[in-house]
Amino acid sequence: MANLKLSHIYKVYDNGHKAVNDFSIDIADKEFIVFVGPSGCGKSTTLRMIAGLETITAGDLFIGDTLVNDMEPKDRDIAMVFQSYALYPHMTVYENMAFGLRNRHLPEAEIKEKVLEAAKMLDIEEYLDRKPKAMSGGQRQRVALGRALVRDPKVFLLDEPLSNLDAKLRAQMRTEITKLHKKLQTTFIYVTHDQVEAMTMGTRIVVMKKGYVQQIDTPMNLYNEPYNKFVAGFIGTPQMNFFNVTLNRINDIVEVIFENDSKIVLPYEKLSKIHDDYLHGSKKVIFGIRPEHLVLSEDGLECVITNVEHLGNECIAYGELGGVEQDFSLKDEGNKIIVKVIEGTNINVGDKVRISPIIDKVHFFDAETEVTLLSKIPSYSKFSAKISEGKLTFLDVEIDAPAQLTRVCDNKNLDIEVPPYAIVRGSTYSLKVDKIEKINDKNLAYLQFGNRYLFALVDDEVKVNDSYSFDILFDKVKVTSDNEICLEEINDQISLLGTFDKEELREVDTDESSPTYNKTIRKYYFHAVIENKKFSLLTESGYKMNAIEGNNCYKRTYKYVANMNDVEVTDSESDGLRVSVVDILDYGVNKYALVQANEQKFLIKNKNYNVGDVLFINIPGDKISIYSTNIDMKIC
Ligand code: ADP
Repeated sequence: MANLKLSHIYKVYDNGHKAVNDFSIDIADKEFIVFVGPSGCGKSTTLRMIAGLETITAGDLFIGDTLVNDMEPKDRDIAMVFQSYALYPHMTVYENMAFGLRNRHLPEAEIKEKVLEAAKMLDIEEYLDRKPKAMSGGQRQRVALGRALVRDPKVFLLDEPLSNLDAKLRAQMRTEITKLHKKLQTTFIYVTHDQVEAMTMGTRIVVMKKGYVQQIDTPMNLYNEPYNKFVAGFIGTPQMNFFNVTLNRINDIVEVIFENDSKIVLPYEKLSKIHDDYLHGSKKVIFGIRPEHLVLSEDGLECVITNVEHLGNECIAYGELGGVEQDFSLKDEGNKIIVKVIEGTNINVGDKVRISPIIDKVHFFDAETEVTLLSKIPSYSKFSAKISEGKLTFLDVEIDAPAQLTRVCDNKNLDIEVPPYAIVRGSTYSLKVDKIEKINDKNLAYLQFGNRYLFALVDDEVKVNDSYSFDILFDKVKVTSDNEICLEEINDQISLLGTFDKEELREVDTDESSPTYNKTIRKYYFHAVIENKKFSLLTESGYKMNAIEGNNCYKRTYKYVANMNDVEVTDSESDGLRVSVVDILDYGVNKYALVQANEQKFLIKNKNYNVGDVLFINIPGDKISIYSTNIDMKIC
């Protein structure tokens, strides 16, 4: 039994290929986690790094509380089952299963007990004397599972174990592996390219594409709330239908207008989380609807049925939108539609039918980023504002504009994008709470302004119909004027370029528990060197840099990143990097000082500094993250 933690794991192969990028997940004890994605997306590489069969380029891997990056595979207390079974052909099933235990010098009686118990569990008792070649694929895979089982590992890793089996056996083994997981009460990590396996077996699924995690979620959440078009298309068969559309809001309804000018109408209430920008026909949107969420109707989209597949209990109809006879040309991909209906529905090739989506099941994605427009917590709400002669009018309230806004965009018409976390309790604005939605442990409030909503995260005390009073953190908003960016959100992270250095000192060992206690030993101290000033780094970061970057680490430039809140300002030159304050940025609630050290400028929180002040900056070593500037990768 064990929990696992993968923290910013990267794999860059020797040929420079970046197979896994910034993979992070906390896996709880007893979870059944599935890595799924198309071939080459980095699933096996990740699994092999967990097993210890592949080195981890950067990032930390914990099994339980132990950092295991450099631990030998045999010491990790995990067992791996491969697609190829990897059985020893010259050994019997019994010997194959006993092999690992013999290597660990367990008493023969104990080995026998374990093998028999596993064989019973997997229903292969009668084959114990056979050699693998005299067994079917399914039986061999059971032996491979048995060999893992007898070791009583903390974690089971399974790499496409069912790929070599036929469809029927696969379905059967799926159930058996799920049962085995329940019985063993152990953490399972399972790799597959088959979304059906993923959906039926996983307690949580990691969907990957080209080395990047796309979404980590339960099967139902992936199905119902895919984060992007890729996940939406990958999960579910037949695949979700996608159409290029534009949206047009008219009061309480939104028209979804297809490329061939056909139209459906949805209630605005269901789409109120979609940013207003998308609702006036000028932005391209992808409409997604699963075949099982379309129904034949009187007034839906017109389409011609071009093929019908009868599967016994259900029937899949393929059609062409637009109601025109099919011309069999390959162009116009965007008009094809798949509908799943129950068997017995009267639907035939050549029929002209009308179909409608089930309103609660629609998906919309941005046409460029392909990210959902219906995320549970909207990334921002956008409203227009006006600023003139230092006065800001926003949400019908006029205030003295924060100095930074006046400076950058005085006398302009503005659009302000307010993320929910930029709204904090206060007294400047007040809007009625129209609705509250509980999303995990958060409360999303729909604050009514005109005929639209401003979304805010609120505490449990706030109730529907309350008048909610708040302030806006203008340093957390994005301000545009005529689509030109005037102000962007201030990021709490600062990043500085610098080199990396090591110092070797001879010191007397003061650690009483050390074998070299009281002797003179060599000790290494590692530094980031930023504008000629040394910042101490953790010793373990130093060793990691060495391990990952080799001796190149002393020649390269790195990006050192820290949170603004961890920056310490001292008045002693010896303690820090000398900077001078070159500007003060006043955003109302929050203020910042822009400081400069030679070539590099960065922001710190303002504590009554003035332009021209000289400050000394320090950042504790344990708060500094190091990124490669060579490839985009967090080293430690
Ligand atoms: P998956 O298991 O999702 O099919 P892999 O993890 O096996 O994908 O591979 C991810 C990517 O890394 C692929 O593009 C593959 O070609 C590449 N790759 C795998 N092994 C190596 C290697 N030893 N050297 C270089 N590239 C590799």
